[in-house]
Amino acid sequence: MAGYDFRSPRLFVDAALAPGATVALTKPQAHYLSNVLRLKPGSAVLAFNGLDGEWRTSLEGTGKRVALAVQERTREQTTASDLHYLFAPLKHERLDYMMQKAVEMGVSRLQPVLTRHTQVNRINLERMRANAIEAAEQCGILTVPEIHAPLTFGRMIAARKPDRLLVFCDEDAKSKDPVAALGVARLGPETLLPLTSVSADGPQPIAVLIGPEGGFADEERAALLDLPNIVRLSLGPRILRADTAAVAALALVQTVLGDWR
Ligand code: SAH
Repeated sequence: MAGYDFRSPRLFVDAALAPGATVALTKPQAHYLSNVLRLKPGSAVLAFNGLDGEWRTSLEGTGKRVALAVQERTREQTTASDLHYLFAPLKHERLDYMMQKAVEMGVSRLQPVLTRHTQVNRINLERMRANAIEAAEQCGILTVPEIHAPLTFGRMIAARKPDRLLVFCDEDAKSKDPVAALGVARLGPETLLPLTSVSADGPQPIAVLIGPEGGFADEERAALLDLPNIVRLSLGPRILRADTAAVAALALVQTVLGDWR
């Protein structure tokens, strides 16, 4: 990120970005720029929409009637990462935190999974999206992760594509070396191959799965361990809260297999 402009505020906008375009702002965006940041007309604001890269814009108007005048492109659109994050939803602030951290850690899809011991059944997808957008604006990425409606555990297993490595975070995992565990993919019962030799055509797609505060039920754990192409990952000798486990697991995956290399 050398040379990256950290000073100008960054906004995700739902509009095409091209030289000379004017982008209308939502009320919360106008409020944020005018009242929270107290920006004056002419101030620089960076804008991205997930498609057209990042653009320098200039603030026009005052109060609620502000817009962005698009000037020039500061960064080309990059290909989004391909890292799915599957998680049992948590309550309110902890879910907000987990969504923000997962986006900062580089996930491309947020997929809630309702497991047997999940205590939250109603999920506010709009709130999840607002958290994902805020984190994307803050951490400099150019694409907001996809947000999917919750799946039951059974549907998640049924819908799973076996070519996507599933990193199952399990406090009962036998292996105590997470880096070694991630370095090996299980391709069918007999085969143990280092991941680098698995992927002739680019990096293997990955999903990380974290359970609810009450953990996975025995039959859920058994169903997961029966799947092909999974890694059972230990995150050390302590039981982590799910939001901590998310950050720890995603840091390990990005370090060993992902874009931290
Ligand atoms: N079953 C537990 C707690 C679950 S912690 C109990 O109540 O005792 C919530 C989730 O975080 C777990 O399902 C797991 O996915 C992840 N997790 C927490 N600590 C972990 C560890 N040490 N290793 C691997 N995963 C862990």
